[in-house]
Amino acid sequence: MKLKVHFPVITLLILSIISSTMQAQNNDRWRAGSLKELSGDVLFLVCFVSTPNDSWKESEKDEILVKLNESENWLKEQANQYDVNIDFKHSLLNNGDDILFDTIEAGMGIGNERVDWVYRVLKRIGYKNSKQAYRIIKRKHKTDNIAVVIMAKAGGTSYSMRYRKGYDKKKYFIEGTIIFDSYSNEAPMPIPAVIAHETLHLAGAWDLYTTYAQTADRQQKAHELYPDDIMLRVDHSLTNINIDKLTAWLIGWNKNQEDIFEWFRPSDYR
Ligand SMILES: [Zn+2]
Repeated sequence: MKLKVHFPVITLLILSIISSTMQAQNNDRWRAGSLKELSGDVLFLVCFVSTPNDSWKESEKDEILVKLNESENWLKEQANQYDVNIDFKHSLLNNGDDILFDTIEAGMGIGNERVDWVYRVLKRIGYKNSKQAYRIIKRKHKTDNIAVVIMAKAGGTSYSMRYRKGYDKKKYFIEGTIIFDSYSNEAPMPIPAVIAHETLHLAGAWDLYTTYAQTADRQQKAHELYPDDIMLRVDHSLTNINIDKLTAWLIGWNKNQEDIFEWFRPSDYR
């Protein structure tokens, strides 16, 4: 009898010790969706969305792909500093042709943006749903670590669309980000930094600047502790910013947890 009582307790203890040392975030969003982690093979599925009267020029698409490459190279360099290797692969959805929508609603950075962009894109190019698309794409590209990068010919605040356990897998399992080509006020978008910032969210990184979900005192503290972190600020030059130890911990690159880290948790990652 005694053994029967004690075994589960010991097992539980071991399990909780293992999970707390292996995961920076043990909530239901951590590594739940199609982008497992920023390490090893990472497949970006890139697509261009536009509206009938403002489509992408071929030269603009070429520029975007150069910027995507810059973003990937910077992420690789940052990863190397934490002894992590990333091997990016990318593939163009819809052969790189525009996917047209009547309107592209501007992201406003207020947390109520539409989160079904990946699903809409996948449906438009012929997939049944996100779960089926994941199965097919995984087999074709021989990797299960996948994110969609949607380049929108429109102004707005770029954002990422994360999966969490309990969401409809058929709609939301493949995670992605929508990158607007300028801000709503037409200010130029620092696209390489923004792609990296949004991709980092998919891997678990928190915003360190004031948002609808993050407070001003945390932004102030982040300025003191991690002044150049990409989750605090983006920059037109990637050489001015980095992935500091908090963000690196959140995405599983830095294994050295510090007490202060948890204090930065924003409300959209609870
Ligand atoms: Zn952000």
